[in-house]
Amino acid sequence: MIKKLPIKWKLTIWSSLLLSVLFISYNLLQYLVMEKWIVSYEQQNMRHQLTEMEAFLKEKSIQTPSQLRRYESYFATINEKNQLLRILDKTGEPILTVSHAVPNDWVKPKNTTSLQYEIVRHGEDRLLILRSPLTIFSGTIEIIRNMEAFDRFRDTIFLVMIATGAGAIILSLLGGTIIAKQLLVNVLAMTNTVQKIKTNGLNERVPINDTNDELAQLGKLFNGLMDDLEQAFSQQKQFVEDASHELRTPLTIIKGHLTMLNRWGKHDPEVLNKSLQSSLKEVDRLIHLVNELLQLSRADIETVEATEAVDVCAVLDSVVRNFSSVYDNYTFQLIRKERVFVSIAVQHLEQIFIILLDNAVKYSRESRKDIHLFVYEENGKVNIVIQDFGIGIPQADLPYVFHRFYRVDKARSRKQGGNGLGLSIAKRLVEKYDGTISIESKEGEGTKVIVTFPVK
Ligand code: ADP
Repeated sequence: MIKKLPIKWKLTIWSSLLLSVLFISYNLLQYLVMEKWIVSYEQQNMRHQLTEMEAFLKEKSIQTPSQLRRYESYFATINEKNQLLRILDKTGEPILTVSHAVPNDWVKPKNTTSLQYEIVRHGEDRLLILRSPLTIFSGTIEIIRNMEAFDRFRDTIFLVMIATGAGAIILSLLGGTIIAKQLLVNVLAMTNTVQKIKTNGLNERVPINDTNDELAQLGKLFNGLMDDLEQAFSQQKQFVEDASHELRTPLTIIKGHLTMLNRWGKHDPEVLNKSLQSSLKEVDRLIHLVNELLQLSRADIETVEATEAVDVCAVLDSVVRNFSSVYDNYTFQLIRKERVFVSIAVQHLEQIFIILLDNAVKYSRESRKDIHLFVYEENGKVNIVIQDFGIGIPQADLPYVFHRFYRVDKARSRKQGGNGLGLSIAKRLVEKYDGTISIESKEGEGTKVIVTFPVK
């Protein structure tokens, strides 16, 4: 049942329960100790009186019951309040009785052969009895003390304890509620925020107080998460907008050609041919773009399976061979070639090389069609450098070239079949394998792309 209660009540109930148990056990202990202590105090007191009486009897050298009766007044003076003194003969008959507010018939006279204590009840009253054998003549001394005063005191204490106990439980209930409320105020704020996010969107945040306690930290964490989410969300939106825009351009061109053909190109072989050629080129571009989009999303979601150590130079060699056969007017030189191994899926490493070599080729200038390649190990990292001597990238554009769809010169890049996706695909792939990718470039002089991976 308690499991289903809100945390606020759970906290309150548990804290009050704990406090009550503590309080009750403490009081109980105190009560028992007090009881034991008082009884033993009274016993000592009675023992003391007994010794006094025995000394008196000895001093007066009393030997018979009749001698004893003469000293009744002495016993009356030494008797204490709420106490009965009785001396019995060997048959158990009282020889002498003095009493203060304890009726004689409350306790029956009884002989004893050894010192003993007893507690008996008479109605509401508790009587503490000390019996001791009399040495002068065979008989017994009885001291009977009414514990009424002490019991009244004990009952008062008991009442006080109950009252303070009840007060403490009420206070702890109150305190528990306040503490629970304080604790849960942030949690409630968070719940409200999530509710608002559901209705108003991702821009809501949890208010953070400056206590910096665990809940405030949770709130900050939550806000941080919401920031990331909002950013990812808006990036995603941007991406879809950019992608649609990119897709629209070739589609618009194709539509233009088809409209023209429909109107007056059907019977003009020259127009027909030209339009078909252009449309095919645009379809190729569309296919290329869709492929790149697919690669990008795969690089994002594909999980990396267990990979083997891959010989970087071997992979680079095979990609360069393919490029050389297609671009035979370019020279590809592997300037530094160390045998290094990286843990990566081969097709991913090939894809990275193809993107970077493709850029190097696309953005080289007519005057120098050299591409230099370096593969070496340094500071525990595998470095792969691809350098061209082409048009370079303006300093202002450098920070953005890894963004999706970013192109320095849109017109030129488009002419060369670029969608502005290559570098962002490469970056995602490299980072998947804990690598880094960076670009150094000078406009008009050339570009160096540096990829590093941890050594396998
Ligand atoms: P694209 O498919 O258009 O080449 P990338 O993401 O590969 O897209 O590159 C983004 C932009 O960075 C390119 O449009 C180009 O302007 C610039 N760029 C990339 N590599 C080079 C390079 N080697 N030399 C000069 N500019 C480059």
